[in-house]
Amino acid sequence: MSDAYPRCFEPLDLGFRSLANRLIMGSMHTGLEEIEDGYRKLAVFYAARAAGGAGLIVTGGLSPNRDGMLGLGPMEHSFPDCYHEHRQITQAVHAAGGVIALQLLHAGRYARHDHPVAPSAIQSPINRHAPRSMTKDEIAGTIEDFAASAVLAREVGYDGVEIMGSEGYLVSQFLCERTNQRDDEYGGSWEHRKRLAVDIVQAVRKAVGSDWIIMFRLSVIDLIEGGMTAQQTMDLARSVEAAGANLLDSGIGWHESRVPTIMGGVPHGAFAHYTRRVKQAVSIPVAACNRINRPDIAESLLVNGDADLISMARPWLADADFGSKAEAGRADEINTCIACNQACLDFIFSGRAASCLVNPLAARETEIPLSTTASPQRIAVVGAGPGGLACAVTLAERGHEVELFETAERIGGQFNLARVIPGKSDYAETIRYFERRLLSFDNVTIHCGTQVGATELIDEGFDSVVIATGVRPRQPSIEGIDHPMVIGYQQLLEGASAGARVAIIGAGGIGFDVAEYLTHPSGDNVVQEYEQVWGIDPSPNNAGGLVDNSNVYVTSARSVYLCQRKPGRFGATLGKSTGWALREGLRKKGVEMIAAVDYRLIDDRGLHIEVDGTPRLLEVDTIVVCAGQDSLDDLYAPLLDAGIQTRLIGGARKASELDARQAIDEAVRLAARL
Ligand code: NAP
Ligand code: SF4
Repeated sequence: MSDAYPRCFEPLDLGFRSLANRLIMGSMHTGLEEIEDGYRKLAVFYAARAAGGAGLIVTGGLSPNRDGMLGLGPMEHSFPDCYHEHRQITQAVHAAGGVIALQLLHAGRYARHDHPVAPSAIQSPINRHAPRSMTKDEIAGTIEDFAASAVLAREVGYDGVEIMGSEGYLVSQFLCERTNQRDDEYGGSWEHRKRLAVDIVQAVRKAVGSDWIIMFRLSVIDLIEGGMTAQQTMDLARSVEAAGANLLDSGIGWHESRVPTIMGGVPHGAFAHYTRRVKQAVSIPVAACNRINRPDIAESLLVNGDADLISMARPWLADADFGSKAEAGRADEINTCIACNQACLDFIFSGRAASCLVNPLAARETEIPLSTTASPQRIAVVGAGPGGLACAVTLAERGHEVELFETAERIGGQFNLARVIPGKSDYAETIRYFERRLLSFDNVTIHCGTQVGATELIDEGFDSVVIATGVRPRQPSIEGIDHPMVIGYQQLLEGASAGARVAIIGAGGIGFDVAEYLTHPSGDNVVQEYEQVWGIDPSPNNAGGLVDNSNVYVTSARSVYLCQRKPGRFGATLGKSTGWALREGLRKKGVEMIAAVDYRLIDDRGLHIEVDGTPRLLEVDTIVVCAGQDSLDDLYAPLLDAGIQTRLIGGARKASELDARQAIDEAVRLAARL
């Protein structure tokens, strides 16, 4: 970040009000509203972000009527059904000095209930519920519902609304030929297809008056066939500005798009140049979004003129104080979102309220209160991987005296391996964050390069010991496993070289990571490479911004085989929101995935396997073992026997659940109790 006052903290003047700074907390469905006491929890959640420096908060999307409800949860309701509950949210945010807008989202054919409506009766590939075509009366009623909901939002204290016009929801469905085959004044020509968006903005502006925020979330690139062209996108931007919008937010891709847009493999700020195109078409402020997770990235996009505002959603889960830390020049203290999706989107997709892998307190503010301890203890934490680090920091924050032991010369554990995987460089930020936090306490002593034994821990007389020693890689019993061509994933990721032909034993998360590591293109222009792999073609007249590249392979210097013993689908244990893209990315790089493998022998010729009873030789020069792990819990029994309060967390407790999310969550919850 520049030494001068950061541009992201220049207030933005909207004419009738000022936004404290240019960092928006973008809309994200948390699922809190669907659980008991959810609105109070949401109020605490948003108020923490307002206090932490969010210039403007946009809530998760709520429908202006029942047809448009997303229908994800049993208690889901439309905004008019629950608007009175929202007063506690707006009051809490205002008390914390924040500004908050309600997102109005009509799901259209994405609604997961039995009565979805859409411009035309065309079913979405990602929804088993087929929609029916809306009548003209229903369209008129929906426009009125948007306006009426905005009036209610103003009544309960919101500072504005964001109209969801992207990501493939109802407004997008009207805009694009793919989903709109009507032949009335809301379909057919471009002028007709954009009418719903314009009519909604006009109706809302008329209903709420001029001194209120109307933000329109506009798809700067649809990433689907039959989507908008760039010309249409810019025309839409001008039209919604003329209709009364005073802010534009960027949306990237439809939910049914087969292009990953937010996972770690997407380069930082990859879509800002599409936002820039829109910004040049209008005179109102425009926000950029997606894969902007550090203040320096936000700053450079603003300075570069790509956008007037930066909208981030997940980074505010990872750190409620993102804004105030950045503003105070303490960016190195920010807990950075690593784009893993494991506790935010993957939780939502499995029916749980969102949280965050690197910050389990996110959206659990009322559930895991962290108070200063009344009886400080001397606690040893053994292992400085993500779990041990989170435990040590939380214990220290609560006032305990902590000694942290780590065998390796540096902290970070498995994150030191993850950080070298293409798309996972942000994992290094987590280590930086914990290091910075640890150094800020005077009640923490760190012993790196120290293999502490049970006797020393007993002799030291600690009140409690937390064992976060993690795992040791599993060595499968295959004849020839000691052959020199066999290496472990740890050796590989720590720098051991691999040949031109590689077989990977085990296709869990680490097997996938290793395959990516071995085949990733090594060019300098990461945005161009990403666009080439996923077939993104931003030329102005290309509908949806895509070209068909289903058969385009990205040249990899290596041939790689990824093997698993179980039959069927690869990557079943990967995250719901990322597994498909990791699989597709490896396919595009020519990785051969072989299931139902029986490992027979390793010799100078390579890896001998049988697949469905048929022998096959994989002629490789390197074999990388990624066959899971076993717990490293040797300290546990002797400490317990000595009568010391001892707790196991993370992989040391259960190797099959070696997973940073689980480890950090267990660590913070334990440290909150001790
Ligand atoms: P894992 O997910 O348990 O996968 C280990 C793989 O090795 C399995 O696919 C298993 O498949 C195979 N295997 C197990 N025992 C074997 C044996 N004796 N011989 C040969 N193959 C054997 O473990 P991991 O890949 O090490 O990942 C560890 C954890 O890290 C996971 O819990 C995951 O959550 C996390 N992680 C996730 C990601 C991600 O989501 N992108 C990335 C990295 C790590 P078969 O038995 O079918 O062969
Ligand atoms: Fe970011 Fe992962 Fe946290 Fe989601 S769970 S907010 S992607 S760090």
